[in-house]
Amino acid sequence: MPDIRQRFYFANSPVRGEIVQIQQSLEQILSRHAYPIVIQRLLGEFVTACVLLTATLKLEGRLSLQARGKGALTMMMAECNHHHQVRAIAQLNEEIDCADHATLAELLAEGLLVITLEPEHGQRYQGIVELTGKTLADYLENYFKQSEQLPTKLWLAANETQAAGLLLQALPQQHDEDTDRWSRLVQVTQTVKAEELLALTSDEILYRLYHEEEVTLPEAQSVSFSCTCSREGTANALVSIGQAECEDILAEQGDIRLNCQFCHHEYVFNAADIRQLFAVKLH
Ligand SMILES: [Zn+2]
Repeated sequence: MPDIRQRFYFANSPVRGEIVQIQQSLEQILSRHAYPIVIQRLLGEFVTACVLLTATLKLEGRLSLQARGKGALTMMMAECNHHHQVRAIAQLNEEIDCADHATLAELLAEGLLVITLEPEHGQRYQGIVELTGKTLADYLENYFKQSEQLPTKLWLAANETQAAGLLLQALPQQHDEDTDRWSRLVQVTQTVKAEELLALTSDEILYRLYHEEEVTLPEAQSVSFSCTCSREGTANALVSIGQAECEDILAEQGDIRLNCQFCHHEYVFNAADIRQLFAVKLH
């Protein structure tokens, strides 16, 4: 199955939904690191949630989800842009074991989750998500509830090779004559099994859940792995650490080698590159 994001609508209703299913992009994220199984699954959930949230926004730019903790998992981050390009990473405290069936709450021990929106034009926005519950889906649903945003429910599923999710959201613009619709749809969606989200096609999932409703579908969008790192961005990072620090590293190591933590691409800067970098900056 290709990696997709499929939006769906219920006819004459303010409720809309999204299905995300990823495999190849997740494989590209996971193949660059040796993560424990539980972390592989959680990364799948993070990436899926990130695509689902991006899909609900009219955002030209990127959205990231970043958790920081004090347990076995010290950091997990996923990012998605409006082209549905994703990347993700996890950092672990090697001294603490990751139990195979540990929940996100147990792995973080104590921590926080931050949603960041970075529009290409305009203000950056950050929302802090309280860690109430055990899973990422719990956290995000509570976030929507507490920040008084649109009624939103989400379901996430992941194994070591694939991840999938479904999101339902009620838009405020229209009045729904069918007053039970939201609770009915939530109830029926609640019956979806993780295996179904992972194994069935989006058409099959929609039929399985909503065959009594009138569902319409725009064309599915593809999701892919892509790292946004660049030589220019890496150079900017060097400028921010300062010329003296760069000169020190050059004196010690001959050149400066920086690896992108997401895709492992190595950027090399020699003495001439560094001289040019700071010369340019002075003008
Ligand atoms: Zn990269």
